[in-house]
Amino acid sequence: MLRYNSFNRINLTGTRQFSSILSNTQPQGSASNPSLKGDYTVIDHTYDAIVVGAGGAGLRAAFGLSEAGFNTACISKLFPTRSHTVAAQGGINAALGNMTEDDWRWHFYDTVKGSDWLGDQDAIHYMTREAIDSVYELESYGMPFSRTDEGKIYQRAFGGQSLKFGKGGQAYRCCAVADRTGHSMLHTLFGRALGYNCTFFVEYFALDLIMEDGECKGVMVMNMSDGTIHRMKAKSTVLATGGYGRAYFSCTSAHTCTGDGGGMAARAGLPLEDLEFVQFHPTGIYGAGMLMTEGCRGEGGILRNSEGEPFMERYAPTAKDLASRDVVSRSMTMEIIEGRGVGPKKDHIYLHLNHLAPETLMERLPGICETAQIFAGVDATKEPIPVLPTVHYNMGGIPTNYKTEVITTDEEGNEHTIPGLYACGEAACASVHGANRLGANSLLDLVIFGRAAANTIQENHTPGETQADLKPNAGEKTLQMVDKIRYANGPAPTAEIRGQLQETMQRHCAVFRQQDILEEGVRKLQTVTEMYKDIGTKDRGLIWNSDLIESLELENLLLQAKQTINAAENRKESRGAHARDDFPDRDDKNWMMHTLSWLDSPEKKVKLSYRDVIHHTLDAEEVDTIPPMKRVY
Ligand SMILES: Cc1cc2nc3c(=O)[nH]c(=O)nc-3n(C[C@H](O)[C@H](O)[C@H](O)COP(=O)(O)OP(=O)(O)OC[C@H]3O[C@@H](n4cnc5c(N)ncnc54)[C@H](O)[C@@H]3O)c2cc1C
Repeated sequence: MLRYNSFNRINLTGTRQFSSILSNTQPQGSASNPSLKGDYTVIDHTYDAIVVGAGGAGLRAAFGLSEAGFNTACISKLFPTRSHTVAAQGGINAALGNMTEDDWRWHFYDTVKGSDWLGDQDAIHYMTREAIDSVYELESYGMPFSRTDEGKIYQRAFGGQSLKFGKGGQAYRCCAVADRTGHSMLHTLFGRALGYNCTFFVEYFALDLIMEDGECKGVMVMNMSDGTIHRMKAKSTVLATGGYGRAYFSCTSAHTCTGDGGGMAARAGLPLEDLEFVQFHPTGIYGAGMLMTEGCRGEGGILRNSEGEPFMERYAPTAKDLASRDVVSRSMTMEIIEGRGVGPKKDHIYLHLNHLAPETLMERLPGICETAQIFAGVDATKEPIPVLPTVHYNMGGIPTNYKTEVITTDEEGNEHTIPGLYACGEAACASVHGANRLGANSLLDLVIFGRAAANTIQENHTPGETQADLKPNAGEKTLQMVDKIRYANGPAPTAEIRGQLQETMQRHCAVFRQQDILEEGVRKLQTVTEMYKDIGTKDRGLIWNSDLIESLELENLLLQAKQTINAAENRKESRGAHARDDFPDRDDKNWMMHTLSWLDSPEKKVKLSYRDVIHHTLDAEEVDTIPPMKRVY
């Protein structure tokens, strides 16, 4: 049976109207409390497992759990196929060897090197080894991959990918569906998910984790269409809420990428890992931010400066335009700083596709040509596309081991997992991407760790396990938070605070960083986060109150942005995407470690500590640790 909950058609099977969450005074399904201004209907639910998020990672986890017999709820603030995964263009990496000889160990090597040795090698081992089966699994679900003449899955060249442990030249490892790979993948996964008995709560907004005695017991959720509050209990909760690109002014990610899962974890007193590592994609359209996939360069596209020079040859003699993203973004920024940018302000760079055959462009990059036309007014077959490095991906996130179990540390630095809590996808930090993610390794991360979450929960639990009642006041603080924002009448509009946040991050925590600029950014962000106390919302209703939702999202952005800039100020070295003018070299002696940061309320001070990087692989006989070396392309 398909149970599909959309809008306000709530399937209440197995749930009951809950009346006494706060004061036991309103028995009619409406919770009221003298400390609250509004009345709220609170509905209780019990599931074996809850997945928050219906992007690639969330869907793969949700149907994996349903398949294994777990009564599963999948909660999404968006209709699943509108999740940001739909926008992914270039592809998904797996060493299928369809274009040249290939080996997943070479993919492992490239990913460790790409991570600038901050990635955990056990997790990278797991991901690259499982990649091949995962792509064939997607194919078996009906994902319409582009094909070679022999009918095999088409694979294109992508940045940072090599053969023979960096010695065999460019690899063709990125499996693609033209330039719409994410679109195909997300629709394939959603179609697959609908075949299972998984209950979707669509356009429901997850507010907070329910934590009791250090364990996760479920989530507090709001139905955005009618404002009802849903207190959802489960043995296992998976956060798959995506990244927080919207902390920056110019980014390729959707307006919905506000890092809500990270915000929920932070409010629950859990650390986040490596947030200072923010990826700038070299080729966002100048002025618009829309992505021009790395696949453009994979298909032969070239970056040129105002002198017409293909300048990447100087910075990365071997890989040139297909060097790792951090390297290309920095090189472009250097060209602009040194006065060789293009355009009247000499403040961007040209991406040339116009030397490629128009038929190739139409077959391999049709969406790119359309996007270039719409957002830059450029016919890519005839003219170059104006581009600029643009925020694209968060390497950091909720810390997990390679089995997706969420990790924290105690005062003495001892690590332990949080019972009942899992995270996967861009929201998580496994950490397979370390200091810099390679292109096409994220779609891979989604299916690998989405599935791993389902597998680990199967190892830890059986379907239908009994669950203790929640404490009577579970979720009370969350309701107070919602109420406070709903009735907030301070002088600072949400959009004003968000604008200042995005501007500060863009100016003070960008491609190149240095101490004085970071310190000023830390100070400015302190002021911005304090403004949150003076927020003012106008809509007091509960039906589609976007003012309220955007304000809640803003808190999540503030929590993560502040941790990001504080961690960046703290890390006195350059590694991967974190490039410091004043500390230009990687410093393995002092800084080969993960940052952990804590912040449970925007205006507070960020607390920082560290975690060791995992250098060992899962099995040294299969593939051995890649020791640190200089990273050149
Ligand atoms: C333009 C673009 C192109 C890209 N191209 C590639 C590529 O070619 N290859 C590659 O490997 N990677 C690519 N990436 C990166 C990759 O697409 C993303 O990292 C990945 O899709 C994130 O997937 P996810 O499942 O973690 O989250 P998302 O797809 O962002 O989904 C998040 C889900 O969480 C839900 N959610 C969030 N907050 C809440 C809440 N409070 N309550 C309820 N639900 C919530 C949302 O509704 C959504 O369903 C690209 C990224 C962008 C922006």
